[in-house]
Amino acid sequence: MSRRFWSDLTARLEPYTPGEQPQLDNLLKLNTNESPYPPSQRVMEALRGLTGDELLRYPDPGARALREAAADFHGIPVDCVFAGNGSDEVLSHVFQGLLKHSRELLFPDISYSFYPVWCQLHGVQYRQVPLRQDFSLRVEDYDTAAAAVIIPNPNAPTGLLAPLVVIRQFLEAAPNRLLVVDEAYIDFGGESAIPLLAEYDNLLVVQTLSKSRALAGLRIGMAFGAKELIEGLERVKDSFNSYPLGVAAQRAATAAYRDGDWFQQSCNAVIANRESLTDALVALGFEVLPSAANFVFVKHDTLSGRVIFDALRAEGVIVRRWDKPRIEDYLRISVGTEEQCERLVETLRQVLPAL
Ligand code: PMP
Repeated sequence: MSRRFWSDLTARLEPYTPGEQPQLDNLLKLNTNESPYPPSQRVMEALRGLTGDELLRYPDPGARALREAAADFHGIPVDCVFAGNGSDEVLSHVFQGLLKHSRELLFPDISYSFYPVWCQLHGVQYRQVPLRQDFSLRVEDYDTAAAAVIIPNPNAPTGLLAPLVVIRQFLEAAPNRLLVVDEAYIDFGGESAIPLLAEYDNLLVVQTLSKSRALAGLRIGMAFGAKELIEGLERVKDSFNSYPLGVAAQRAATAAYRDGDWFQQSCNAVIANRESLTDALVALGFEVLPSAANFVFVKHDTLSGRVIFDALRAEGVIVRRWDKPRIEDYLRISVGTEEQCERLVETLRQVLPAL
């Protein structure tokens, strides 16, 4: 009955459903694209070094050390860097602060399913632009008179990468249209658009430390763009929560950016596992889209996505699937360690013949 206290907006919301985080014994969790490898030792040392005196104070509201480490890593000025509590929060600020206009926002029909939810929350007018039959992205399909375009690159959940030439075409086609590139998965084989910031002021790049830096549990997201775009995001942040990142998250994320060796090794290991997993899945009768991410998007030649999803779940293997037109027969499978990938493949070998 207390629902009567909900605002009209609250009653209308259709919230995003995150991948489940069940606590089962012997579970193989390949549904939310976390890193299969623990973070850098430097991160663990930074966390162990926290003192009570640091915890009793509020953290740095501007996350200066973290933003400097990210700026150094990417070779850009620190005032072109924004930090928030996971890229979901950063993206929410982007929708509210930079994508809400009288002209519409465009994004692909198959992309991150949180985008329409933020549009609803913040009252952003939007239109979904169908990807081509093969899920590729075409610049000419996007109206140059739109206020903005947002794309995940590599795309989620397909894993397909748009090369930098395509990003450049988007930027050149409409200098007054903002392009937001959500690079949650860029470190697994793609080329970041961050170097293009030196040439274009209509570009904002969003990244996360949840995947390639193995810090999903601490919630850290970043945005990179022209100083004025970052200033816009800071205005939204400081009207919402002045201290979005706790001291532990700031310390850990700073250490993560300062350990380039761990980062490279970990990404390379995931890429190698993705390639062998792809071969094994093809041998089992799956079509595997070419992935530049830490997951593969796959469809079986004869069996429906739902049947395979349920059979895997019964064996304690959790992957992700959407009941959406065009992709209902696909499964998105996060790339695990070698052993995890082997268990997935072995489980499929056992269950598929009976389906
Ligand atoms: N963008 C995309 C495309 C994603 O798949 C995700 C992960 N669900 C995010 C952003 C958000 O990541 P996080 O909030 O963990 O930084």
